[in-house]
Amino acid sequence: MPSHSRPSAPHKASDETMMITDNVQLSRRAESAGGNPIGYLMHQALSRPELISLAAGFVCQETLPVEAMRKANQLVLASDQQARQALQYGTTAGFAPLRQKLLERTVDADRQSLAVSPHTLDSVIVTAGSNQLLHLVSETLCDPGDIVLCGAPTYFVYLGALEGLSVRSHGVATDDGGIIPEAVELALEQLDAAGELPRVKAIYVPSYYDNPASTTLAIHRREQLVEIARRWSRHGRIFIIEDAAYRELRYYGEDVPSILSFDDRGDTVIHAGTFSKSFAPGVRIGWGILPKPLIQPLLNQKGNLDFGSPNYNQCLMNVVLEEGLLDEHIEKIRAGYRDKLQAMLEAAQEHLTPIADVHWLDVEGGLYVWLKLPRHMEAGVDEPLFHAALDQGVLYVPGEFCYPAEGVPVEKNSIRLSFGVQTPDRIRQGVRLLANAVRGLRLEA
Ligand code: PMP
Repeated sequence: MPSHSRPSAPHKASDETMMITDNVQLSRRAESAGGNPIGYLMHQALSRPELISLAAGFVCQETLPVEAMRKANQLVLASDQQARQALQYGTTAGFAPLRQKLLERTVDADRQSLAVSPHTLDSVIVTAGSNQLLHLVSETLCDPGDIVLCGAPTYFVYLGALEGLSVRSHGVATDDGGIIPEAVELALEQLDAAGELPRVKAIYVPSYYDNPASTTLAIHRREQLVEIARRWSRHGRIFIIEDAAYRELRYYGEDVPSILSFDDRGDTVIHAGTFSKSFAPGVRIGWGILPKPLIQPLLNQKGNLDFGSPNYNQCLMNVVLEEGLLDEHIEKIRAGYRDKLQAMLEAAQEHLTPIADVHWLDVEGGLYVWLKLPRHMEAGVDEPLFHAALDQGVLYVPGEFCYPAEGVPVEKNSIRLSFGVQTPDRIRQGVRLLANAVRGLRLEA
């Protein structure tokens, strides 16, 4: 299979790092790990504080749940006995009362699709953020050279994790309704014809307000994907890794049932959730709901890694759920993000619509707007547009970072804009500056 190397951010080793790394024999894995491109972008943002960064996918700083956390802390520390329990190591799978609540919340949200879940408390594992779950799952399922199918574009941090494990990410076509089941089927057919079907271990699908493409997987596709994964599990099970990181950040329309809820047998879907977007990323608590045969193998991996995620934070989140503080917080932040999203879309309408061949999707939730630029306008960090945007005073994430290593080719004329961090005014200003940069290059062309 042809593979396109994923672009990495430019970096220079300073004299200091040279001294430190000199004569150090790194592992092959460390040698081959590309720096996370976001590190370079963050460096840009930090070294030039006047820049309007529409790059980082951080959540809104002003609405982080300080009061709710103060209250949860007081409650966790209220009795000495409970406090000591929270301050001790926990179990590898995580704090059982929290796991129970996570399962109940998911089953409850999915009730219209699946009233009785095949999952039990044992199916839930708490991790240090859902990135850890994604990593553990990939480590548990994949050997070097194995394949995970991903939408093109998709979440670039996960692509980096796969690359670090020498797992091949294989890009599948997407449209406004997310990953296209017929394209998944076609990719499986082609891989089968090449004798590579036994290497396909999973299909990775951010199912709500995708990062970066902002799409939500169409409801009928959820059922279809489960059916396709089962039908193609001839050599070994092909799992669907459902990444539901943004499910709670919905600003318009109705919630849709998870892909998990179409897995009535509980044998196909691995569901990843997190409090990073709905509550506070600093708490770094995520979780997985998994098919039974994966639980012990995953716990074995996790046992070797950390034998349990931070117990205190799990106890905090348990109280946050118990006291209804999460739902209160979600209500509050939804209104703020809706305003920010609106500011971004209105500014795009005003400043980008007049430029021919610039497109974006109507967004219903999440933190991102995915812009497609005129076909030949490349947006990478070495391209004129990136520098023109920096000169104007605005930073974005080049879309080319978000393409899997194989399959659908990299499209270089796309941009991910985040609206979580900046105020509506700065979002408007940032989009206007970006439009100036695009227009300037169009005029030059
Ligand atoms: N999945 C997606 C699609 C994300 O965008 C993120 C955060 N950027 C995560 C998972 C994981 O976040 P965390 O590890 O903080 O739970």
